[in-house]
Amino acid sequence: MSCLFCKIVHGSIPSTAVYQDEQCYAFADISPKAPTHVLVVPREHIASLAEAGAHDPALLGHLLWVAAEIARSKGLAKGHRVVINTGADGGQSVDHLHVHLLGGRALTWPPG
Ligand code: AMP
Ligand code: ZN
Repeated sequence: MSCLFCKIVHGSIPSTAVYQDEQCYAFADISPKAPTHVLVVPREHIASLAEAGAHDPALLGHLLWVAAEIARSKGLAKGHRVVINTGADGGQSVDHLHVHLLGGRALTWPPG
């Protein structure tokens, strides 16, 4: 198993857990870009959003629901951002699908 986020899901690389269930694991980003920066990843290895298959729509919806629940639990009522970087031009650096939840400050648009 060479995937960094698979290792985090399995606990062989430490992380700060935020939420977990049978389908996904959420943990603090090691290099936060906002006061709240959480990554939500499926337990199953899916390389990217582009690689998600026809059997994955419910899982994708679940990841978004989890991000929204974490935003609620962290009190991000003023707003937050959910991002899925996909592929090299999309800025994806870890090839295991992950949803970024960013909040706790005013975020600018457009991103770089
Ligand atoms: P992306 O650039 O969209 O692929 O996002 C990858 C994210 O993973 C970046 O925000 C990194 O800071 C984060 N990251 C990398 N290694 C770790 C780690 N060991 N624990 C937590 N977050 C990590
Ligand atoms: Zn993986």
